[in-house]
Amino acid sequence: MESSTAVTIPMQRRLTRKLQLGSVELGGDAPISVQSMTNTLTEDVASTVAQIQKLGEAGCEIVRVAVPHMESARAISEIRKQTDLPLVADIHFDHRLALAAADAGCDGLRINPGNIGSEIHVREVVAAAKDKGLPIRIGVNGGSLEKDLMARYGGATPHAMVESALGHVAILEKQGFGDIKISLKASDVPRTVAAYRLLSKRCDYPLHVGVTEAGGLFPGVVKSALGIGMLLSEGIGDTLRVSLTRDPVEEVRVGFEILKSLGLRQRGPDIISCPTCGRTRIDLFSILDAVEKRLMGVMAPIKVAIMGCVVNGPGEAREADVGIAGGMGKGILFRKGEVVRKCREDELVDVLMAEVAVLEEEWRKT
Ligand code: SF4
Repeated sequence: MESSTAVTIPMQRRLTRKLQLGSVELGGDAPISVQSMTNTLTEDVASTVAQIQKLGEAGCEIVRVAVPHMESARAISEIRKQTDLPLVADIHFDHRLALAAADAGCDGLRINPGNIGSEIHVREVVAAAKDKGLPIRIGVNGGSLEKDLMARYGGATPHAMVESALGHVAILEKQGFGDIKISLKASDVPRTVAAYRLLSKRCDYPLHVGVTEAGGLFPGVVKSALGIGMLLSEGIGDTLRVSLTRDPVEEVRVGFEILKSLGLRQRGPDIISCPTCGRTRIDLFSILDAVEKRLMGVMAPIKVAIMGCVVNGPGEAREADVGIAGGMGKGILFRKGEVVRKCREDELVDVLMAEVAVLEEEWRKT
């Protein structure tokens, strides 16, 4: 019988140009990277660096910081000294902030050249980006589209968003600049997906994908998983950000879950847990919560099963490297679907984690 691990979603990744963003390669055959954005005041260097560190521990590979004024632009210089993660300065309208952020040592800029005034301003930003080797992300947002495009297309339609992005691209290309990546975000899945599909046929710049302002944890995860997942499954997307009204660390965790679910990246354990039913005789919800928390620092790409009963548990989790299955106030530890030992319910988490530690150790040695 064919193993389920042999099944993959057939997808051909769209071939894009490759960019260097600090230490991270983006586009082409580079891994699809996960990024997020700090929500501290950027000029509060201690808080910003602390959040960047937490993001890095969660696996974040690119961090964007808001640069609304000069103080925040200059703060990048000190932040730069305290982190190795690539830093993207997020700027709206004021080209002087882009110049200051470039001087302060950011690794990339997010700025729309059509919104920063005269051609001279664009030339100055492009010169600074070329000089420092900084890519520029053009970020089109359905909520802030140019009025003339809105009028021409009758709203922030996917075609209008694509025209906006290509308009900004043309401004940079006119200056001989091609280190560009593009995002085209709307707050709903159909429009976001349609816009990226259209754009992916019009250029080969790397695409930063995401559904913007997706909401809190529950709706945000669903919208992001659908929108980003649909695009990635069509080979569209070189880097992603999950947008949640939450701690940005959650965005990174969800981003990796999306990539792991599609078999595009591996990072840490994959947890299989049953939904519980009338056969469940242990507190599986609490056990799963405890296991999830304790697995957070584990990096080994192992499958861990948390199952409610011994009837179906080991069988349903045959693909798991290690797992537990509950009984009446007790449970069993199993490995690769085979029972290893029995123990009390209150011992299950510790017993499982001891086995995980062994697997982690073996993985680190390989
Ligand atoms: Fe029910 Fe057992 Fe399946 Fe969990 S593994 S849903 S307890 S039958």
